[in-house]
Parts: sequence; C-alpha cells; structure tokens
Amino acid sequence: MEALILKRYPVGEHDCICSMFSPDHGKIRAAARHAMKPRSRFSGLLEPFNVLDAEIQFRENRDLHRMTEARLMRRFSHLIDTLEKVSAAFEIIEVLERFTPDSEPAPDLYAAAITALACLEANSSHDELILRFFEYAYLVQNGYALRVDACIRCGKARGQKPARIHIEEGGAICSQCRQDPAVPVVSHATLECMQRLRDRRSIPILDAGVQEIIRHEMRTIVLHIFEFHLGMAPLTWQKNATGLNRSGDGS
Ligand SMILES: [Zn+2]
Repeated sequence: MEALILKRYPVGEHDCICSMFSPDHGKIRAAARHAMKPRSRFSGLLEPFNVLDAEIQFRENRDLHRMTEARLMRRFSHLIDTLEKVSAAFEIIEVLERFTPDSEPAPDLYAAAITALACLEANSSHDELILRFFEYAYLVQNGYALRVDACIRCGKARGQKPARIHIEEGGAICSQCRQDPAVPVVSHATLECMQRLRDRRSIPILDAGVQEIIRHEMRTIVLHIFEFHLGMAPLTWQKNATGLNRSGDGS
C-alpha cells in the first residue's frame, strides 16, 4: 500500500516502529524488524516525508502492525533546503499525527498532504500560506469548514465583498446582519481561497500583496477553528498567533 512516513521510533537495538499515513487506512503504526541494521532492506527508507509502497501485515484488533517490505515511491528531497520549509513540512506531519484517528481511510486528506508537501518543495516563498491551506483542507474534511459564500443569518450571497467571520456561528455575516466590531472582517481574497478549498478546487496564483493579507487572515481563522472545535492548536502555533484586523467596516 502507498503510505507517507510520519515518524520513526527506534525500538531496542535493531528494530523500529513507524507511524505512517495512507489513503486507504489513514494513520497506522507498523513495526519494521531489523530496520536499524546497516544492511537492512529498510535502510534509508523509513524517514519522515518519504512515500513508500509498503507491504503491511495487518494484525486484527491491534494498533501495531508489521511492515515486511518497502519500496521508495517518492522522496521530497528539497524540503530540507530551508528551515521554513522543513518546519512547515513537520507541521503537516504533526496535524496528521495528532489530529487524525487511527485506521480510518482518508484519501482526500492524504492527497491534500502530498499536494502541500509538493508545493512546499517547489515554492520558495509561500511556505506559511501552503501550510495554512493544508490545515484548512484538513478542517474542511473534518466538517469544520466555514460557510463563506453567503451570509449565515439572512442567506444573502456575499458576491465579491469582504465579510465579518463568526467562527462560533460557522461562517460569514453580512453588514446588514451584524456591525459588531468584535467580529473580525476578512477580505474577499481570503474568503475566496476558503471557498475554493471547501469545493476541493485549486488555489490560483496570487500576487505578493494579496498573499500577505491572506497569510495574515488565514493564520487567525485556522487557529480559532482549531481551538474552538478541537480544543487545541498544532504546537508551533502557540507562540506566534496574532489577532485579525478588527477595525474594518464589513461593507
Ligand atoms: Zn445577512
């Protein structure tokens, strides 16, 4: 089966356990015997971010299975080129490791993770934005997407306008329905990206100024959704969250 290696833990002198994420089985853990020996058949394969074609012996009613063979399908070699890339990539791993249940098929989330890692590898300057888009894709697939195409109270289409976003109520609120400055205003560009992720469409190329706005707004929205629905945020968030602009007029 195809699987992305998330983490590897040594066990004893020669063996190791890998946690991995696959389209058909979601997150699983598998022991690889003798993997740490110099001439092991697993040598160099069980590294985080490697995509393997792995043969797994599933053991019923156990949460630890056994890997018997593995072939390398894809290696994201350039993820380690910069500190920003590698930390964004590890945060993708962290979301899969901490926020997904064991052994539940997740083909869409797997595809989103592979796409995000490929984008991180290929792009030089959009690391944080790629990570935010992946995290929002994760939230969409877990049913936490916000409704941003229309007002959640009166149903009026939003069109190209910015809107206030109410995380607890689950979406955008038009200026007729709410003028409360405590509910932050989010730009049309960010709302459009959220809508495209919700519809599983790709994000168009964005110019640098727009990217900066989206990066800032997505950071706060994604953090708040994680905290509201999951009670916690990915670890790397906890030191660098910032507030949204709360002074816009929402029109
Ligand atoms: Zn409304």
